[in-house]
Amino acid sequence: MRVLKFGGTSVGTPEALRRAVEIVRTELPAGGLVVVSALSGTTDTILEAVAVAAKGDTAAARDRHAIIRRRHLAVALELGLLEQVQPLWEPLFERLAGILEGMGLLWEASARARDGALAIGETLSAHLVALLLAKEGLPARFQEVREVMRTDARHGRALPDLVAIRSASEGWRKDILGGSILVTQGFLGSAPDGATTTLGRGGSDTSATLLGEALGADEVQIWTDVDGVLSADPSLVTNARPIPAMSLREASALSAFGAKVLHADSLAPLARAGFRLIVANTHRPAASRTEINLQAPPRRPGEITSVAYKEGLACLRIPPSRDIEPLFHVALKLQEAGAARYGLLSTPDGSLLLVRPETPDAEALLKELTTSGFDVQRGLAVVALVGEGLREAPGRALALLSSIQEEPITGILAGDTGVSLAFLVPESRLSSLIPRLHEHCIGN
Ligand code: ASP
Ligand code: MG
Repeated sequence: MRVLKFGGTSVGTPEALRRAVEIVRTELPAGGLVVVSALSGTTDTILEAVAVAAKGDTAAARDRHAIIRRRHLAVALELGLLEQVQPLWEPLFERLAGILEGMGLLWEASARARDGALAIGETLSAHLVALLLAKEGLPARFQEVREVMRTDARHGRALPDLVAIRSASEGWRKDILGGSILVTQGFLGSAPDGATTTLGRGGSDTSATLLGEALGADEVQIWTDVDGVLSADPSLVTNARPIPAMSLREASALSAFGAKVLHADSLAPLARAGFRLIVANTHRPAASRTEINLQAPPRRPGEITSVAYKEGLACLRIPPSRDIEPLFHVALKLQEAGAARYGLLSTPDGSLLLVRPETPDAEALLKELTTSGFDVQRGLAVVALVGEGLREAPGRALALLSSIQEEPITGILAGDTGVSLAFLVPESRLSSLIPRLHEHCIGN
């Protein structure tokens, strides 16, 4: 049993879609599940439309709606699918228009209503892909994901109900084992009251792995626009190399410390179910790919497989005399406002909290904390060396760090899995530090 997930750029143009068809033909000869994202850029455009509608600017919201509609119709026309897909799409375009008009009238967009608008993007895409596969002679059909992807009611970042998903997907399992190819939406779920939820930005990977877990798949393939997981960010390291095989722990550390290719939440199902996770490039299916398994391939002691980083971090320092409570209070408030937490440390020598504001609310809260007397240092980046080899020989990484000792390092963070060593640097140093670290730790 296999699940294939195609990201936004893999379904974003007629050429990419045609390649996706050939991938499905090759990879699912006896049925399987296909999970799709919205066409690239659609989710962003819907969010823009929602934002302007919530300010009462219905004209601007209509403009965004027209952009989405035109773009989709153009893709369908070029694929020769306009006639078949339009009857399925028009009610969706109408629904999106209705939601935006409603928001515009109310000057308000609740998280629940926003999820309803976002759902249109993935639903348009899944109908298109299902029809395209069927037209190309494959036994494919659309299936509504909200029938099976049961979640809680945390709109915008819903958590899956694994037991409910497993029992709801039993029918899908039978169909797939009977040879069908089911095509469904990533990113979406349904709350206990039936309202649409979303799993968080980039959540389609998570949809694919959750459904893989529920269906008892032995392989989930994430088709994207890079040749698998690379040893570093190719925009900073020109000779970054693909990693053919890695452990789940390595993949988790990489996504936690900034690698964009895999969504961190998407790895939890792998940890529970133990299937194989493949990351491959839709635009170059024959290029290298990465295989992620629970167990690591053999690594040399001290071997580092990748270098990750994330910029835009802020460090809050709390003096030792203070009680621990303000630290937790601030951490919680920042998290609720939409800041990602990278570290929370308390020693007799003082406490620090490392966060990355990811929403305007979190940014505003950080500014407020700064003016209310907290010691906040901005402009930091976290850099992580990742590799199973570090578990056996963690000292190697420290030795490597001392070899770059002229770099100002603000702090060292060691996670509990033992496969990463992370430290803080001013973000202005990244562009020279990352290539040097890569050369030093991984080589050319
Ligand atoms: N379309 C959604 C997003 O852009 C989900 C995804 O692509 O994974 O965040
Ligand atoms: Mg994605």
